[in-house]
Amino acid sequence: MLIVMKHGATADHVQRVVDTIEELGYQARPMPGKQRTAVGLVGNDGRVDASRLAALPGVKEIIHVTQPYKQVSREWKEESTVVRLCGGLTIGGDGVLVTAGPCSVESEEQILASAHAVRAAGAAMLRGGAFKPRTSPYSFQGLGIEGLKLLAKARDQTGLLVVTEALDSEGVDAVAQYADVIQIGARNMQNFSLLKSAGRAGKPVLLKRGIAATITELLLSAEYLLAEGNDQVILCERGIRGFDSTTRNVFDVTAIPVVHELSHLPIIADPSHGTGRRDKVIPMARAAVAAGADGVMVEVHPNPDRALSDGAQSLYPEQFTQLMREIRVIAEAIGRHVADPLPAMSA
Ligand code: PEP
Ligand code: MN
Repeated sequence: MLIVMKHGATADHVQRVVDTIEELGYQARPMPGKQRTAVGLVGNDGRVDASRLAALPGVKEIIHVTQPYKQVSREWKEESTVVRLCGGLTIGGDGVLVTAGPCSVESEEQILASAHAVRAAGAAMLRGGAFKPRTSPYSFQGLGIEGLKLLAKARDQTGLLVVTEALDSEGVDAVAQYADVIQIGARNMQNFSLLKSAGRAGKPVLLKRGIAATITELLLSAEYLLAEGNDQVILCERGIRGFDSTTRNVFDVTAIPVVHELSHLPIIADPSHGTGRRDKVIPMARAAVAAGADGVMVEVHPNPDRALSDGAQSLYPEQFTQLMREIRVIAEAIGRHVADPLPAMSA
């Protein structure tokens, strides 16, 4: 970390910065220049409270030379993390893992029909919320534990792995009991107590980017999971809020190669929430795979017009089949392949 002093900063100002750095337990290296002095902070272990230094008299700006996160960074671990899922499936290797299913688990008939349809098209993991984070308290909130049981039934029938959201710390154990991957939703990306509980649950975690979160904030939230000893973390770009209401969110394809540069963790893409519009999901899913996403998560519903949540962005099963055909070709063009699903357990 470099503390750049103002042009007119006095020797006393510089000394105060030096004293503060030493008080914080680090070494200070003043570097007088022609125009201004800069003070280097040596030994930054990522815990320095920069605001204490920024507020001192004579300080112009703070330049961070290392990232605020540690264990999620590529500097910490150079080789890419391969997240190991049940049955030998992985995310983060050569395979592109496709997750599909409805926004919410609505009924046994709906989730089983969804699961069979996405499995037939080649998806490897089933999605579906049992606990739903809805903007309005009057909207459908999910089936709760009953929804988790239905997801488990769908897994038994199809061999699909299951990812579903844990809304709060109290719900993490139940989700971990039924699901293969615990999802932390966009609205909860900075729910730090939930992150800590999920980090201790002993299951891989899918961490979605917050609605207005920077990539640094996403990586810092992932750091909470790794700090609890869980490195089986999958990041997810799901669009961020912009000023243009033409689409639900701004789907940030760039986040995919940026995260790959900064972090060893895999990143998947959710173009359904990223765009909010069915006809935009397919082109953005293609773009995400082309950009190097380690997986794609899309909402598919057997009857989107009747969906209790996010029908407008849910693909019809035949559209999903077409999407699978297209992304297979794109994955192969960049030296990857779409991961095959596991065989059905009860088959
Ligand atoms: C979801 O995937 O079910 C969901 C609610 O998405 P997000 O948290 O990205 O809004
Ligand atoms: Mn949804």
